[in-house]
Amino acid sequence: MTTTTTEPGASRTRKPQPWPREARSLQDKLYYASMAAERTAEGCLLWPGTCNEEGYGRIWEPEYGDWLVHRAVWFAYHGELHHTDVIHHVCGNRACFELSHLVPASQAENVGEMLARRHYEGERARLQEELDELQAIIAQQEEVLERMREEREELLESVALLQAMVARRSKM
Ligand SMILES: [Zn+2]
Repeated sequence: MTTTTTEPGASRTRKPQPWPREARSLQDKLYYASMAAERTAEGCLLWPGTCNEEGYGRIWEPEYGDWLVHRAVWFAYHGELHHTDVIHHVCGNRACFELSHLVPASQAENVGEMLARRHYEGERARLQEELDELQAIIAQQEEVLERMREEREELLESVALLQAMVARRSKM
């Protein structure tokens, strides 16, 4: 079914509520919905009810009004959710209401920071390896230089000896 309505917040597709009439509490409704929901290969639980224009699952509750399903799931499980708290889908699937795929945005940032730190540490290890290699090359060159200095000393000594011999001969 397709609708062409431009009414704000209007659902693209209206589906029957995925729970029996006797389901009253938010928890009960979410439970029945999860039983009716399709599970994807990625482990996402796709909201079987109505989704909004942006693709988020919607649920209407007499007690709380119109909710985005993933926020309702977070609230139902954790018992609290401030209206300014952003709940992020780690799977990127807006219709997903799998609890383990939902994290508060602050934690999502932490995940991002962790990944950035891992990248940074990897980069640091790579640079350290390059540095170690260069230092090994320099140490090797210093050994060669030292050997050349010694050889030069020996040559200079030989030269001095020969010069002395030449000087002695010319006085004779
Ligand atoms: Zn998901």
